Amino acid sequence: MAARQACGECGRRFCICLSKKPSCCLECFDGTPADPASHFAPPAKHLLAA
Ligand SMILES: [Zn+2]
Repeated sequence: MAARQACGECGRRFCICLSKKPSCCLECFDGTPADPASHFAPPAKHLLAA
């Protein structure tokens, strides 16, 4: 379900509706900067564990 609000381009998960285009946030869709408070960064891929 979370994937439904995750941008397929940048991987950020939004807690608000994305653009009309499925799986793509406004920033990736038309360049509108996304409010940092409106999304979560993509899951860290354990880079810090290296
Ligand atoms: Zn995006």
